[in-house]
Amino acid sequence: MTAKRLMSGMRPTGRLHLGHYFGALTNWLHFQNMGGFDPYFSIVDWHALTTKYQNTSEVKGNIFEIALDWLCVGIDPELSTIYVQSAVPEIAELHLLFSMLTPHNWVEREPTLKDMVRMLDNDEAAAKEKVTYGLLGYPVLMASDILTFRGECVPVGKDQESHLEFARAVARRFNHVFNVDYFPEPKPEFTTTPLLKGVDGQKMGKSFNNDLKIADTDGDTTKKVKQMITDRTRIAKSDPGHVDLCEVPWPWYNVIDRDKPDVLALVKEECETAQIGCVACKSRLADHINDYFRPFREKREKLAANPEQVHKIIAHGNQKARKVAGETLAEVRDIMGMTNW
Ligand code: SF4
Repeated sequence: MTAKRLMSGMRPTGRLHLGHYFGALTNWLHFQNMGGFDPYFSIVDWHALTTKYQNTSEVKGNIFEIALDWLCVGIDPELSTIYVQSAVPEIAELHLLFSMLTPHNWVEREPTLKDMVRMLDNDEAAAKEKVTYGLLGYPVLMASDILTFRGECVPVGKDQESHLEFARAVARRFNHVFNVDYFPEPKPEFTTTPLLKGVDGQKMGKSFNNDLKIADTDGDTTKKVKQMITDRTRIAKSDPGHVDLCEVPWPWYNVIDRDKPDVLALVKEECETAQIGCVACKSRLADHINDYFRPFREKREKLAANPEQVHKIIAHGNQKARKVAGETLAEVRDIMGMTNW
């Protein structure tokens, strides 16, 4: 049986948080370790330029940080290809070719583009001024990321479903226009972990300063967990709590201790009978998070102390990715009648 090609990527915007780990990386690890898949994991640095093209000084450092995060949690270069998007120029060539056959109203109606525009500026008119050609075309670039490797499945969160639908539409259009059955329509593999909230109960994100990072120390983690919003109706320690109203710690327990029903039953019981206060309950949660991530953090420190090893892994992945990408582009040029001169 041939292994199914699986493709996914992340922007190098800084150290990854635990939402990235539980929302994406655990899914990647699942497919990497179950066998039967040939995973390609890309650090998509061109995508980082779609909104931050003026400031490229941090991109290189962020690529290294993201590689450390991936490797320390168990992404294994023996089982998965880890590469940097800009080291594979064939992706840009496919992006250009796809941009010729993608109707412009497809990109304009992308729902995530509207969200990105809002993030650029609260004033809609001012935000529109900031939309570059590259930002408008990022769904086409994303389709190229996947289809350069003829990816058959893509692990994604529900919020990214529209991107994948776009890539599927581009694959269908290419096959239809050139009357071939060349590109597979990549299928989503949805993560089953619920979205983790930041300590303030809002969406977790670096820019909101409410995230817990894989690379945080035990002390950082404990300090941040202490700030988590709990059950707002619980005023005194002697008041019984309600786990269903507990905004952040209880949902986190359900992720960190998801395989330990006895722990979850104990937390619920102690909360609802006021046997424990929120301060102590959060301190225990911080311990559980630190126990879970300690081995990863130790591995991360060792890798960070040996940057040549990390660069070698990336260079090897780049080489492997380029080989596959080169084969795809040679076939695409052939199909399109764009002779390899
Ligand atoms: Fe949440 Fe724990 Fe407080 Fe209950 S005791 S409200 S579970 S932090």
